[in-house]
Amino acid sequence: MKLLIIDAHCHAGKGDGFTGPWDTRASLQKFLSWSYKAGVQKINLFAAFHSDYAVANAEVASIVNSTPGKFFGFAFINAVNDRGRVFDLVKTAVTKYNFCGIKVHRHDARISREICEAARYFMLPVLYDVMGEVPMIELLATEYPDVNFIIPHLSSFSDDWRAQIAFIPMLERHPNIYTDTSGVRRFDLLEMAYKRAGASKIIFGTDGPWLHPKVELSKVFALTNNTADLKKILADNFLKLTAKARSHQYKNSFRKVPVFDKTDTALSNEYRDPWLAA
Ligand SMILES: [Zn+2]
Repeated sequence: MKLLIIDAHCHAGKGDGFTGPWDTRASLQKFLSWSYKAGVQKINLFAAFHSDYAVANAEVASIVNSTPGKFFGFAFINAVNDRGRVFDLVKTAVTKYNFCGIKVHRHDARISREICEAARYFMLPVLYDVMGEVPMIELLATEYPDVNFIIPHLSSFSDDWRAQIAFIPMLERHPNIYTDTSGVRRFDLLEMAYKRAGASKIIFGTDGPWLHPKVELSKVFALTNNTADLKKILADNFLKLTAKARSHQYKNSFRKVPVFDKTDTALSNEYRDPWLAA
């Protein structure tokens, strides 16, 4: 039986920085043939780091919509730079680009209520790289129980053991918290996540175009040979999380459009514990 394999985490397009590949250019040239050879049939794309995600998302959209049926797309949003225009950016992404999720990275700024409210409105999952800041996930999970969050790399691309070990109980405890396998190196922790939280909470992703899909996929096959679990990890969980978004279900129920303006304080500034000295 041939399994459907979706890579749920891949960057594409040009950045406008010049620090490293992550903000300069995410070229799919080699990556698409790597993916093909590895047996990956579909890929979810979002931008590299960029100072203007309106521009970067439009470029990703042109790639996503160039080959119907091959790609999915997520809108990259910066909680601080895009303050006051998040709803509009997400609306364009959903209605014009047919994107089905939001990507947020703490390297840009901490996630904001404005982003979570837009995700709730359009029924999109949010892929949020917390860069090891695990406690924040408790707030996301409980304040937005109807929004699904994918916390990539077991919460840390840099293999921060402390963060990853603290993240697993979060994954286990909160029904709306998921993770992806991209870039995870500590296999014992991936196995712990699988055993404790189960296959329904884990999504296959590569963090391409820089990591090889065959290497990333082999971790999933090392994790289990249970076909039902493999189906969930390799495709079904991602399809389930994006189903409402892909069928534009937000149109079916009337909800108030969330209103935020440029002056609303981003969480980046609020995230200070008043009981601890700075
Ligand atoms: Zn990434």
